[in-house]
Amino acid sequence: MHVQSVLVGEFGVNCYVVWGDAQRALVIDPGADAEAVADVIDSKRLTVAAYLITHGHMDHVSALAPLATLYPAPIAMHPKDAAWAFSKVNAMLPYYAAPVRPAAIERHLAGGETYEDGGLTYQVIATPGHTAGGVCFYFPAAKAVFTGDTLFAGSVGRTDFPGGDESLLNASLRVLTRLPDATTVFPGHGPQTTIGQEKATNPFIR
Ligand SMILES: [Zn+2]
Ligand SMILES: [Zn+2]
Repeated sequence: MHVQSVLVGEFGVNCYVVWGDAQRALVIDPGADAEAVADVIDSKRLTVAAYLITHGHMDHVSALAPLATLYPAPIAMHPKDAAWAFSKVNAMLPYYAAPVRPAAIERHLAGGETYEDGGLTYQVIATPGHTAGGVCFYFPAAKAVFTGDTLFAGSVGRTDFPGGDESLLNASLRVLTRLPDATTVFPGHGPQTTIGQEKATNPFIR
């Protein structure tokens, strides 16, 4: 499995373009720079199999509608975040206007689903706390999990935004710590880490 990270937008979001032998990519959190992501898709000669959204914050979804227009593919996100992600409550002026609503959100995630796209199999893990509709995407064969703003190297997501809930976040972190220690964590901001490393050193995981 190839993972190309693209650092995008005002708040330094990691967008991940993930693909296997089929050259059909999953775009995980498009971030806010459609052009930078399109450059990766075009230069690697990929098509898009699906867009996977860890949560609705504007810095993670602003490029979603423009990219889905350029490269149509199903969009997967939790309805609890889709409810507000494309409205003006999700603007953060002067950096971000409200993200444009994509034409359709085809997959309404709840957590617990398994999908196969472009030859890659992954599981959806519900991880509310940073937002009500936060999810992580776990790829067991590649031992990789994409954690959005739930878990970072040495830190965890804020819970002081609307919809944030510290006790839910702590429960979600406990779910993530049950993944194998060798699992690589690809967070929404900052460097990669592993589940084992975070269990051993992250002060927010008890
Ligand atoms: Zn966020
Ligand atoms: Zn973020």
